[in-house]
Amino acid sequence: MVTTQPTASHFINGDYVEDTAGEVIDVIYPATGEKIAQVHAATPAVIEQALESADAAQKEWARWSGTERGRVLRRAADIIRERNRALSILETYDTGKALQETLYADATSGADALEYFGGLAGSLTGEHIQLGADFAYTKRVPLGVCVGIGAWNYPTQIACWKGAPALACGNAMIFKPSETTPLCALKIAEILVEAGLPAGLFNVVQGMGAVGAALVEDPRVAKVSLTGSVPTGKKVYAAAAAHMKHATMELGGKSPLVIFDDANVENAVSGAMLANMYSTGQVCSNGTRVFVQKGVKDAFLKRFEERCAAIKLGDPLDEETHLGPMVSDAQINIVLDYIAKGKAEGATLICGGERLERDGFYVAPTVFADVTDGMTIAREEIFGPVMAVLDFDDEDEVIARANDTPYGLSAGVFTNDITRAHRVVDQLEAGTCWINTYNLAPVEVPFGGVKASGVGRENAKAAIEHYSEIKSVYVGMTPVDSAY
Ligand code: NDP
Repeated sequence: MVTTQPTASHFINGDYVEDTAGEVIDVIYPATGEKIAQVHAATPAVIEQALESADAAQKEWARWSGTERGRVLRRAADIIRERNRALSILETYDTGKALQETLYADATSGADALEYFGGLAGSLTGEHIQLGADFAYTKRVPLGVCVGIGAWNYPTQIACWKGAPALACGNAMIFKPSETTPLCALKIAEILVEAGLPAGLFNVVQGMGAVGAALVEDPRVAKVSLTGSVPTGKKVYAAAAAHMKHATMELGGKSPLVIFDDANVENAVSGAMLANMYSTGQVCSNGTRVFVQKGVKDAFLKRFEERCAAIKLGDPLDEETHLGPMVSDAQINIVLDYIAKGKAEGATLICGGERLERDGFYVAPTVFADVTDGMTIAREEIFGPVMAVLDFDDEDEVIARANDTPYGLSAGVFTNDITRAHRVVDQLEAGTCWINTYNLAPVEVPFGGVKASGVGRENAKAAIEHYSEIKSVYVGMTPVDSAY
């Protein structure tokens, strides 16, 4: 049995820190609705401690060579892999996601990020520019103290996706998890210190939005990276802009998944399953507007319904379980409200559509067909296991409709026509596109959105651009030529 009560609420300057004066945040196990731990929101004194220690530690860390920094990150990755099962169970307690998933997609994905950016750290170089006898060179320098603010759907992964590139580049990070899932990031902080990370470089402070906002406002902070909703993103981006700070915004989406008549139906059904049901539908890049060409609609819906009936929904700690509950009471109510709107606005309910009669926040995998572009469930991000199927006739029409959204996080296409696959993807307005698969996000590939879905990129070499900046140095080798 895992102890879910952490040693203390915060992790600062290499150790656990408590301040019981902060507001109590109850940690609820989504599978039962029971309280399994409690933490306190950071008080101004705790926030100050985190900022001071990060600011002091960063200057020394920046002097380490990239190889030395990378070694620490890679060691942390190894420890995470050794403890994958315990970390995955904790992730399941924090989020309610099925252990069958968390064993493969959470701590392991965090370890991938630490390993990847640890490997890259030693190769972060500038360039030499010859200018006749003179020359210039550029250096890639860290930004300073970075703030990471996380959503509740991937608490371990988000902490690592932000922490790993920040640390690799020589920055310090203060991470504020979502108040809904405060447990996992503390373990990452603990492991980083065990791996040799000097105190103060990866601090975790708990709290609601106000704690995140206080961190972003502080003059010692150079950058903020947020994973969250578009409305929060607009606030945080504006706060960063007011102080001319760097910002990465990984926000929500309403991504299209386009299935052409010639697609392999079984693959398309699997893709749509991953795009809508994985993590009980709580994935930002989900392909929730599934456009199905009319010739394949019946076969697709029939097979999807059969496969839905085989989904094992239940105790997320049972490794046979495919899907666990929604993360919280608040989130299940949002999802049930959207389901009610889908029914009221005339979509055809194929399966699911109700809350399960049991403890915890369980909703049945839900599929609506005959959804039209104007319906609420086709326009707004639901963040639950609710798939909307829309019909289409031809390619130009579906591209225009797929792009008719303020969002632009992801998109997918299933077709066996290779030319069409690339032609369509070329026109889809999205930061990440998948052809004949969906929702794979390995650390080697840049991830992020266009339009309202965000700015900047996480993962891959692209993330280095967002956690460092270039300093140019011009070197005069000849007498200074001045006309006056
Ligand atoms: P929210 O936007 O509600 O919150 C995100 C984080 O921001 C939380 O830690 C929250 O604190 C904090 N926050 C809220 N207000 C402020 C503020 N004014 N200043 C600083 N920080 C603030 O998102 P959810 O947690 O509900 O997560 C779901 C959303 O995240 C979905 O829209 C989803 O699409 C998006 N998402 C995007 C991903 C991507 O990579 N593009 C990946 C995963 C999710 P608290 O909630 O504790 O009060």
